[in-house]
Amino acid sequence: MLELEAGIRRVTLALPLGIDHVHCYLLPGSDGGWTLVDTGLGLPNAGEQWAQTLGALGTPVGRIFITHFHPDHVGAAADVATLTGAPVHQGAEDYRQCLSTWGERRNEERMPAYLRAHGTPEPEVDSFLEEAAAFVRLIRFVRDPVLVGPGEQIDGWELLHLPGHADGHLALLHDGILVAGDTLLGTITPNVGLYPDSRPNPLADYLASLERIVELDPRLALPGHGDPIGDPAGRARELIDHHAHRVNQAAAALDGDPRSAYDVSLSLFPDPLSPTLRRFALAETRAHLEYLVDRDGAARLEQSGRVLYLAAP
Ligand SMILES: [Zn+2]
Repeated sequence: MLELEAGIRRVTLALPLGIDHVHCYLLPGSDGGWTLVDTGLGLPNAGEQWAQTLGALGTPVGRIFITHFHPDHVGAAADVATLTGAPVHQGAEDYRQCLSTWGERRNEERMPAYLRAHGTPEPEVDSFLEEAAAFVRLIRFVRDPVLVGPGEQIDGWELLHLPGHADGHLALLHDGILVAGDTLLGTITPNVGLYPDSRPNPLADYLASLERIVELDPRLALPGHGDPIGDPAGRARELIDHHAHRVNQAAAALDGDPRSAYDVSLSLFPDPLSPTLRRFALAETRAHLEYLVDRDGAARLEQSGRVLYLAAP
């Protein structure tokens, strides 16, 4: 546990994923209790780890806040809620996606159908199915949380809706400090992917979120992964430039026969990738292609269940 400015503490948990850690933040509360932001992945020992961390805190956790429903943020929410008795606060839109991705409304056919429609080779679809079955067990979210929305406050922190990395992603802002979740990361670019049943144009959403961060100009951002960011607006501008470049690359990749998003992802992300990372690359490529389609910079066509992209006429 690391003490940051303004009495904020950071808890870093190891992850067995492409990224090796996630940060959760403890914000000192006006009532003496902490606000815990995010909970890490629901690994088998998550409860034990949290029991140790919370034991070292001294004062209780008064409330838990989830930035977004991705496994490394929401996964151990039930463990921490049980340990602390604290209510979990989650964005209403985010909780809906949490249920449809990990809960009873999960449709097992949805992702494989999406992967096939966009040109993913069958062995990689199989690898997804194996991985998904193992993954669902690492996500223990809390049912019926306190549903919150943008503009509301949690113990003096304003809730901001900053979609793009996740549709319902909420961040917290107070006194120039942005608890950013994964909307802003210092050394890697947050994944902006188009997944089944998500908002239609996540890249446009994300660019608007970055513009909002530039306008708000917080003095410090505390991200879900990596070091604190001392110039959040500057980092947001870098990410805007990065995506402008990638949109141009996506447009250039359509110079020829119609291509699947999977195929285009091989041009945008040419390095060999594990099936997991290739799925992120595919979703990110789709976000860029659909952004182009929306701006008449590309066309989408469907042929016997397959979705293909081509240069705008
Ligand atoms: Zn994350």
